[in-house]
Order: sequence, then structure tokens, then C-alpha cells
Amino acid sequence: MSTLHYDFKSGAQLSSRSILIWRIVQTAVWLIGATILTCLLFFPPIGVLLFWNILIPIAPFLFVVAVGVWRNVCPLATTNLLPRKLGLSHRKKMSPTQSGIFNLIAVIALYIIVPLRHAVFNMNGVATGIMIVVMAVIGVTLGFVYEWKSAWCSGLCPIHPVEKLYGANVFISMPNANCDNCQNCVVPCPDSTPNMTPIKATKTIYHRISGWMVVAGLPGFIWGWFNVPDYATLNSLNDALIVYRNPFIGFVVSSIIYFILLLITNNKQDKTITSIFAAAGVSLYYRYRIPALFGFGRFNEDGLLINLNGIIPEWLPHAITIVTTLFFFYWLVFRKPNHSSWVIRPEFAKK
Ligand code: SF4
Repeated sequence: MSTLHYDFKSGAQLSSRSILIWRIVQTAVWLIGATILTCLLFFPPIGVLLFWNILIPIAPFLFVVAVGVWRNVCPLATTNLLPRKLGLSHRKKMSPTQSGIFNLIAVIALYIIVPLRHAVFNMNGVATGIMIVVMAVIGVTLGFVYEWKSAWCSGLCPIHPVEKLYGANVFISMPNANCDNCQNCVVPCPDSTPNMTPIKATKTIYHRISGWMVVAGLPGFIWGWFNVPDYATLNSLNDALIVYRNPFIGFVVSSIIYFILLLITNNKQDKTITSIFAAAGVSLYYRYRIPALFGFGRFNEDGLLINLNGIIPEWLPHAITIVTTLFFFYWLVFRKPNHSSWVIRPEFAKK
């Protein structure tokens, strides 16, 4: 039996050969990340294309199908976990309240940063690069203090709420290529909990609010976000607020719909409502993003990867988004939960 196969089946500790393979993959992806960051800072047009128009559009699909792959190879995670891997972390255990507050900050950061793409980041590679560097500095600093993924990957990372929303029914559990032993650093561990959703963590009011904010608000927020053009120049505070208006309206409308649905259905249907909202969110994302990538977006060249307008029929990208929508609703709503976690929990550390 191959070592890799053994790891998948048993959930036992990774063999040294598997660890080596994962370290090679992590290093390769880290180098790709470092290259994109270098481009953002020194060759901004190329960096913007690579980061916002290639890497980021792939991410939601990967989160839906196999978020564990991303959790194992994310370059920011590889960087932020270095203090722990090098034995330099104080390995402090976070209290449930701290963990809940970190989750809440992550959701708020998501809703603050994403609209700023229209005002700054989509056009400004250097600003995007600086934002990534700031995140790495925060993550590494916290990595010196807190155990494993509790502070950044499962705490403050603004992408993490989206991982939890979309990654509720992954294809397969990957081996955990980061934590050597499980220290129970975050409860529930988003990586190791089968069919994880944002509303599974209910320990504190902060967990609950952050869970609701992402499940209820994100689909409408995405709709609103795609109904705002990029602004190359913002002349006033009022201009700056424009980029928040539509996403905020969308957030409020979809939250109202969510809570009405919760009120008129019984508790057993909460999971279904969550999965419908997750499918709606990721479907809306690709509904707008795929046409924009290929020159059929609402706002000229916003979010353009390659202009195929005039080369392929106009209906084609829209037809593709019907297929993606059907796929996401099948995958997240109609497909039976398979009780897979993102990654397999390693053995608990001996006390
Ligand atoms: S597997 Fe264990 S140590 Fe790793 S992130 Fe989850 S709870 Fe923390």
C-alpha cells in the first residue's frame, strides 16, 4: 500500500515520504505566491492580472470541491505557520472568546476590504501587495504567540469565513500537511470537522454573529459588489462610500431573506438554508465573474483576463454560468453530506 494511500484511509500520522511530498508542493506554491507578490510590488499590471484575475477566480471553486488542498498549500499559511514549525512559537491556547472575536474581526475585515477592490486594489498592484505583506506580518507575529492555525488560518484570515461557507461538502478529505499533532488549538477545528459550516461554531456570541454575517449576508453582498464599477480615481469621501453602498444593500436584503426563512422553517432545515445560501453565493460569483474574465462583463474591462468579445458568441460565457450554477446547487444543496472534513485530523498530542 502506498504511503499516500495509507494516509488518506487511516488518518494516521503522515509518513516521512508524504511529509516530504507535501513540503515540496508547499514550497512550490509558496514560490508561486512570492512571484505573484513580487509582480504586484514591482510589475503591478502583471501582478494584478495574476492575483485578481487568475488566482482569486479559481479560489471559490477550489473551496467548494477541495478546500483542504488550499488549506495545505496556501502560501500565506505556509508563511504564518513558520514560527510554529520552527519551534519558535509560544503555542498559547486561545480562549473561546478570543477565538470568536478573531472570527468576527475576519468577517468584518472581509466586508471592509472587498469593496475597496473597486476603489484601490483592482487597479493598484502595489497597494494589493502591501495588503498581503501586512497580512503576513500580522499572521507571522501571531504565529509566534498562538498555537497552530488558531490565530490566522482559523482566526483572523478574511478568506477563512468564505472557506467555511463554500467548503461544507468537499469531495475528499486531504491529509493534514501542517499540524504534526493535533493540539486542539481551535474548537471546533474547521479543518477536521465533517461538513463544516460557519454556523457550526456556536461557543460564543461572537462565533454566532460571525457565522450569521457570512451565511446570511454574503450572497447579497456578492450581488451588490458586482454591480459597482472600478473607480480609477476617487475624489471625495462620498465617492469612496459608493463602493460600499450596493454591497451593503445586498448584504441587508439577503440577511433579511435568510432570517425570514429561519423564522418560517423548523430547526431541521437550518442546514439546508445554509447550503442554499452558500450555493447562491458562489453561483452569483461565477455568474458575474466568468463573463467579465472574457470580455463580456457589465463594466468594460473591469476584471478582464482575456478579451474574447467578438471571437466567441456572447451567449457562451452566460451558458457556462448556467452550468456552474447547476453544479454548485447540486454539489452543495442536493448532494448528500458525505461527512468528510477538509483535512484528516492528525493524532492528538500526548499530554
Ligand atoms: S488539527 Fe488540531 S492543531 Fe491543527 S488546526 Fe485543527 S485543532 Fe488545531
